[in-house]
Amino acid sequence: MPAPAAPPGRIAPLEIDPEEFRRLGHALVDRIASLVASLPDRPVTPGEPPARIREVLGGGSLPAAGTDPGPLLERAADLLAEHSLYNGHPRFFGYVTAGPAPVGILGELLAAAVNPNVGAWGLSPVASEVEAQTVRWIAEMIGFPAGCGGLLVSGGTAANVVGLLAARRARAGWDVRTEGLRGGPPLTLYASPEVHTWLKKAADLHGFGTDAVREVAADADGRLDVAALRRTLEADAAGGARPLAVVASAGTVSTGTVDPIGALADLCRERGIWLHVDGAYGGLAAVLPDAPDDLKALSRADSVAVDPHKWLYSPLDAGCALVRDSAHLPAAFSYRPPYYRFEDEERAGGTNYYEHGMENSRSFRALKVWLALQHAGRDGYARMIGDDVALARALFEAVSRHAELEARTRHLSIATFRYVPPRLAGRRAESREELNELNAELLARLQQGGEAYVSNAVAGGDFLLRACIVNFRTALADVEALPGIVVRLGRQLEQERGGAGAG
Ligand SMILES: *Cc1c(COP(=O)(O)O)cnc(C)c1O
Repeated sequence: MPAPAAPPGRIAPLEIDPEEFRRLGHALVDRIASLVASLPDRPVTPGEPPARIREVLGGGSLPAAGTDPGPLLERAADLLAEHSLYNGHPRFFGYVTAGPAPVGILGELLAAAVNPNVGAWGLSPVASEVEAQTVRWIAEMIGFPAGCGGLLVSGGTAANVVGLLAARRARAGWDVRTEGLRGGPPLTLYASPEVHTWLKKAADLHGFGTDAVREVAADADGRLDVAALRRTLEADAAGGARPLAVVASAGTVSTGTVDPIGALADLCRERGIWLHVDGAYGGLAAVLPDAPDDLKALSRADSVAVDPHKWLYSPLDAGCALVRDSAHLPAAFSYRPPYYRFEDEERAGGTNYYEHGMENSRSFRALKVWLALQHAGRDGYARMIGDDVALARALFEAVSRHAELEARTRHLSIATFRYVPPRLAGRRAESREELNELNAELLARLQQGGEAYVSNAVAGGDFLLRACIVNFRTALADVEALPGIVVRLGRQLEQERGGAGAG
């Protein structure tokens, strides 16, 4: 059989004519505007099980024939409106997940329309420059030198990995990119037990092995103990290991504690060890005029990770890796295959981002961040982040006033607490198991219920409820409503378990 002839006047099944596109787009933007406006009146989440949502989606195979885009978009909008958890809801306080800045929502649409491939300057002239400017503005916000290197990645995890791999290349002491980890002594990494799980994942995936991560003791507040770190470094070096990097947290994910970064920077400089700061949660709070000194000290690190999809309120996803010396990124990531010819643009001063990180083809993540940065301005961000911190403080105080709640910690914009029924108030230590179980169940109810959404932390063996305010829509009434909701659900649980009578 002869091959089919090339179509002369082609109408592809995916094409939409411009008038139709306009109509569909306007209708969709109208839906989105109504949806965003309706969030406060909706539950944070419908709390449905997977089976229910699969039932709604239906189980059929992909249809052979296409469908008109109008009804498709309408159905998608209905599905998302009715079956989503809304991190943009004013009462969403879970994990560290921000609601999307409206200008960022529109920016995503624009970025997708132009669709630059920000892997190479030549494929994305203005987009590459917008990314460079975005990275520079973020560095300025946190006091990092403006001449630093950096790029946008998928999130805090990826940004931290960029820092770690830059450290590996710069400080291993042999050609680690060619010879791998077997080319020299064991490389070791140092962090407090409170460090985010990305470090374990990275140590595993990049062949260090999780044993390479030395957990250094922390004080009662969860801050890395510098004296203990010094002892561990000395013992490891004496034992033939090569201490590669110290990972400090600028806001731990559980409680928001900031490690003593100033003292860690001194120690790392003295011993020639790379200092990486995981500022995925709290790094951007360094923009606050009254930021603690240890947070401001992240400007002394060799590399820093921050997360625009957290405290810059960017739509997912956007992380940002910063490296003090911009040469460290191409040193760690660059390859130049014969099928890429992008050197001319580089000679003219453009950056080919595929040589600065792990991705090859790259989306235009920077646009939504760049737009939001300018929409709010530096002062606007300082105000929103400062308000989030003030709201966490107000929540902590509201919790403290409640006899059936135990307020535990408050750092940056994270408050932790737990429900303690009156019958167990005098026997907390002996009742740990029961309190942990009760609060875990309470958390599940709270998360399913849709009135407000928190996550959890574990501190000193106690299961705690954790509210993290990274939400520019949250107001005082929202955080002040939380203690009442928690206590009501707690009492309900107590009653069901037959414990209330004993109180
Ligand atoms: C959120 C977070 C991470 C991981 O960031 P992702 O964007 O989820 O990949 C790492 N470290 C800390 C401290 C975080 O809060």
